[in-house]
Amino acid sequence: MGEVFGYALPMPSKADPSPGCSCGKRPDWATIEDDSVMRWQAVDIAEWEELRQCPDCGATWLAVWPEESESPPILCRPKPAGARKIRDIDHPATMRAFCLARIEEQLGEIKERKASCRKVNCKRNRLSGTTYCIEHLIAEQFGRHLARLSAGDEGSSRTK
Ligand SMILES: [Zn+2]
Ligand SMILES: [Zn+2]
Repeated sequence: MGEVFGYALPMPSKADPSPGCSCGKRPDWATIEDDSVMRWQAVDIAEWEELRQCPDCGATWLAVWPEESESPPILCRPKPAGARKIRDIDHPATMRAFCLARIEEQLGEIKERKASCRKVNCKRNRLSGTTYCIEHLIAEQFGRHLARLSAGDEGSSRTK
């Protein structure tokens, strides 16, 4: 681990003499359209995630392929801010805004109904438009590591 792949070598970009950076103005998550971000130095790399550091202000940002290879990567402001290891990042918190936005796109609106989630032992209400509660919907769509599920929410232990 900690191995930086060839493409991630930090290269000072001469073509782009940016006056300062836009970290302060960036939203908490956004699809990566500007691939200069992907040339920032990677400080930690995992399978579908890369923690990259802004060369101007030193802030770290998490680049994530949220649905694995299906969609373009997104850039998230890590929580806690300034994390330098992917394992120190609170993934449910860091990815929350992204997950909620995606779910809202699908359901129109995130609204709880007075019926419980279809998962056994789950006491949360299901959302309108689905038979799952918000946490189980996140777990289904994005993976359990992004949901705030406790061990009691399901018999099985959490994966990854
Ligand atoms: Zn910056
Ligand atoms: Zn549930």
